[in-house]
Amino acid sequence: MPFEDDMPFDDDLLSEDAFEFSPLRLTVDLTAMADNWRDMKRRSGRARTAAVVKADAYGLGIEDAGQTFYRAGARDFFVATVAEGVTLRPYAPEARIFVLSGVWPGQEADILESDLVPVLASEEQLAHWMNVAAQAGDHPCALQVDTGFNRLGLSVDEAIGLADDPCRPASFSPVLVLSHLACGDTPASPMNKAQLQAFQTVASAYEGIDSSLSASAGIFLGPDYHFDLTRPGIALYGGAAVNDVPNPMRPVAKAEARIITIRSALSGNTVSYGATCLLNRNSRLAVASVGYADGYHRSLSGSGIALRDLPTSGGYGFINGYRVPIAGRVTMDLTIFDVTDVPEKAIRSGDYIELFGPNLPLDEAAKAAGTIGYELLTSLGLRYERRVLEAE
Ligand SMILES: *Cc1c(COP(=O)(O)O)cnc(C)c1O
Repeated sequence: MPFEDDMPFDDDLLSEDAFEFSPLRLTVDLTAMADNWRDMKRRSGRARTAAVVKADAYGLGIEDAGQTFYRAGARDFFVATVAEGVTLRPYAPEARIFVLSGVWPGQEADILESDLVPVLASEEQLAHWMNVAAQAGDHPCALQVDTGFNRLGLSVDEAIGLADDPCRPASFSPVLVLSHLACGDTPASPMNKAQLQAFQTVASAYEGIDSSLSASAGIFLGPDYHFDLTRPGIALYGGAAVNDVPNPMRPVAKAEARIITIRSALSGNTVSYGATCLLNRNSRLAVASVGYADGYHRSLSGSGIALRDLPTSGGYGFINGYRVPIAGRVTMDLTIFDVTDVPEKAIRSGDYIELFGPNLPLDEAAKAAGTIGYELLTSLGLRYERRVLEAE
């Protein structure tokens, strides 16, 4: 019985690295991550380069990522929440850690203890922080200014008014003013120039205080957009920052699912829930250990899932040199790939199908799911066995 030959079970196996056998696994390359930060730093010219590590470093691990960027030289970090800042602190001991969603009453102790810099996101947060600073003494903060995104921050007029306000309390001491581009991924968008001009008026009102406008995409818009500090996130993790141009970043993450079984199905059969995939030839199907519970979105299904109003043609996997399409619906724990075009000798059960990685760009997989690389990375879920390749 081939199963016994292929998969012997003895005590030795128990001591092996679980990664070698895991149904679902993720490899994170910290050398590539560090190289990507250095690349962003080079492209940022005279500006300092931060590292954005919110959402567990885009799903790849805030401890490893934080340490990697810190060792590469980053001394400015951005997280979304106070809790993320507290987690990051030991891995970036001397760095400035900015908290993008600011501060709620009750979080002051964590902010002060972990020496985090709240990015004040509204008039209420500003008023609250002025009170805190009046009591706790001078503690750095940053000011978010909305230049057209309509998400967080004071309006441009409010920010300029505050800069010129002679009654501004001495204990209010922003170390950074920042804004965020809505259309940085689309260089031709007129939004970019408009936001740039609005932000320039803010930056000049806060002369002597650092300013920051650009995330990954903005860095590619050129030196006018760099100001004093750039804030790359997705590019550090190998994702595409700019639409419709080749992505120069090194891939960082490789996701792979193990093939449980390869089965034959006759022409005329259907595959998976809803019987939406009708086979038009005798086929071989590889059933792999990944599903929507692992962030392998149901919208990747090979047929039958309407994506908003558009039918999708579905996603792909990559195995031993072949791209293999998803057949039928992605299910919670399993996805079926059509491997009919892969020579029988080139594939067997137990092999791994790459879901995205060096052979199948993250952003292509994301596009097939109707989303962006950011969402695929941050949806990976808890079932991946992870292997971290240490930075060289
Ligand atoms: C997430 C975020 C970033 C990083 O954006 P990327 O597109 O991932 O580079 C920078 N600044 C702000 C305010 C953000 O919310």
